[in-house]
Order: sequence, then C-alpha cells, then structure tokens
Amino acid sequence: MEIQDRLETLVEAARFDVCSYSGVREVSRAPARFIFRAALPGGGSICLFKILLTNVCTNDCAYCVNQVGRDVRRTSFLPEELAKVFMQLHSKKMVQGLFLSSGVAGNASRTMESMIKTVEILRYRYKFPGYIHLKILPGASFDYVAEACKLANRVSVNIEAPTTEHLAKISSQKDLYQGILEPMRWVKKLKAANERLVPGGQTTQFVVGAAGETDRDILHTSSALYNELELRRIYFSAFRPVRNSPLEGQRPTPPLREHRLYQTDWLLRVYGFTPGEVELALGKTGNLSLGRDPKLVIAQKQSWLYPVDVNTASYDELLRVPGIGPTSAKRIIETRRDHSIYSVEQLRKMRISVRKAVPYIWFRGMLATEKEKQLSFMHELDDLEEPTPTLAGVLS
Ligand code: SF4
Repeated sequence: MEIQDRLETLVEAARFDVCSYSGVREVSRAPARFIFRAALPGGGSICLFKILLTNVCTNDCAYCVNQVGRDVRRTSFLPEELAKVFMQLHSKKMVQGLFLSSGVAGNASRTMESMIKTVEILRYRYKFPGYIHLKILPGASFDYVAEACKLANRVSVNIEAPTTEHLAKISSQKDLYQGILEPMRWVKKLKAANERLVPGGQTTQFVVGAAGETDRDILHTSSALYNELELRRIYFSAFRPVRNSPLEGQRPTPPLREHRLYQTDWLLRVYGFTPGEVELALGKTGNLSLGRDPKLVIAQKQSWLYPVDVNTASYDELLRVPGIGPTSAKRIIETRRDHSIYSVEQLRKMRISVRKAVPYIWFRGMLATEKEKQLSFMHELDDLEEPTPTLAGVLS
C-alpha cells in the first residue's frame, strides 16, 4: 500500500478504535481528517496527529473495529516512515503533537518496541520537543513501560471495563490485573521515583455499556484509580456496535450516559466530592439519571444542607450549590471581601447559573418570589436511596 493509503487506513482505525480514543475532538473532516484538537494536561489545547502504528491485532475486543478476524484492510507503518510523516506535517504547521496508539500485532511488547522506536526517532533524530501521548498496550513488559515514561508527555493504558467479570465479557485475552492495572502501577512508581518523567501523568478509558456494567461499577473503579494509582484523567466512550462483530446486534449506549459520567467524574476530580456524595447520584439500578444533572440529584437528596447563605458559606459549601462551580465560588468569596451580596442580579453578573442556584441559596433581602422557588426544589425523586458502598477492595 502507498503511504497515503496507509495513512488513510490507520487514521480511520484510530478514529474508531477505542484503544486509541483520547477524548480528543476532531478539528475538521476535510482536508485534514487526521488532525484532532486535544486539551493539554496543563490547560489550553493543541492540534494532534492521531494515528495507529498498525491496525493488525490479535486481540478480540468485541467493541473494536480492529478485533482479530474482522474483514478489514490491515496495514502498518515502520517507525522511520511514521516519524517522517509526522515531521512533514509538523514542519507545515498542521500538527503540534502526536497521539500514537496501535493494535497488538502478535505480542504487546514487540509492538510497543516499534511504537517506542517511532518516538525515539522523533525525540533523538528529529529533536522534536513537543507533546506526545503514547498508548501503553495491555500486557507490555516493564522495560517498555519505563521507556514510554521517559519519552512521552502523557501515557495511558485503557482499562475498558470496571471489573474482571465485565472485561471477560468483551475480551477473552485482556487481563485486568496483570495486563492493565500492573502497567498503571509501574507508571505510578516510576513517576514517584522521578517526578520529571511523563509530566502529563497517565490516563485511561472505559468503553461504556459494552459489558453490561452499571455506572456504579464504573465510578467505584474510577475512584479507586484516582486514589490508588493517581490517574490524571479518566475518559468514557459510549459503546457503538461494530459491524461483523459479536456485539453487532447490541444497542448503542446513549451519548447522554457518557456525558453524565463525565459530569460525575468532574465532581470527584475537580469539585472534590467524596465517593459517598457521588453515590447519592446513583439510582436503584446503579445508574445515573439521564434526565438530571448528577450535582442536582445529590443536592436534592441532601435537602438539609440548603439553603446556603452566600455571604458566609465556605468554598466547599458554595461548590455544592447547583449552578455554582469553582470559578464562580471563588468570585463570590472575592466579591464579599468588599461588600455583601444582596441581589440575584449581582450573582448573575458573576456568571452564576441563577436559575439553578436560586433554590439552594439565601441572602439577606432575598425577594419573596425567589424564596418560593426554594420551597419547591425538593421534587419527587424517582429513585430510592441505596446504602453507600465502600471502595475498599475494588482494585485489591
Ligand atoms: S487490543 Fe482490543 S481495543 Fe486494542 S486494537 Fe486490539 S482489538 Fe482493538
């Protein structure tokens, strides 16, 4: 195959292959379909060249377009070829960074060796200093994980499913403990020994809805991954059935479920909600409500905490008010250093979502109509509360 054809095939494979999905957004469909805009670990964003080294794969992950046995055109790049293609795009200022993943071509460590070789050529021969996100293939050996951490700004091993039982339903070859969690532990240890390694840390991704798992299963494992393995980000990818695969007839996961998981993840990671608080967002089935924002559900289930006095509440108390985020909570605290908050209009000017916040806040002089809204905020909940489970043992 000509380079252009291989490029087309492997960019396309990276687009659908959840092994390489990184939560990045496509910038444009044509002419540069291979460019994706990605959020940088420290803020801001860049254009990434996102590609697989090969779409040859001996694994049988039932949600993946590259699974073994599927009738698709298979191809590969040699490390020198791929590094050269990237540098051509970079010199034309079309891309600023690389996101490199791959199918598992027979052996994870051997495939990782070629991926690492590609990055070594970029770093040492072409002196490319920019952003590289390198996927660690499940089952790769310690030496390759260590090498990846030396070369890349960010690494990731995709977990795909929250428990061994769920993973077994969608892949007969992947081993959650040895193949996925062990490399994550190695990355944590390597980073603890040398802080300068892999500055963007490690991330992972779940395929949501492929294995019949609940949101509770996913959130339990997510909490454990953040706490015990210090993951920087967790991505969620709604399952979409692949033609000519064992899950072809399974219904796709609604994108809204993926969105609710991201919202809940945000509460855990950015807002500092405890796993016990997040548990309140789950219904009887163990899933988040598709119809309501998880932060709103949590507030409704803790009605005794409200209304919050915006003139005296702590930062953490403000953060638990629907419609108030970290930036607006800080704005409130800064503003009241100068003067009290005495009108909804003041809050609106601070970019607070007043419609969401008013039922949960209070200040001296609040209008009667606004107080009435507070009385009606406890809607009939459609789910019964369930006991708060413990996270202990999720990864033990
Ligand atoms: S390892 Fe699984 S998810 Fe990754 S490319 Fe192969 S079949 Fe797809």
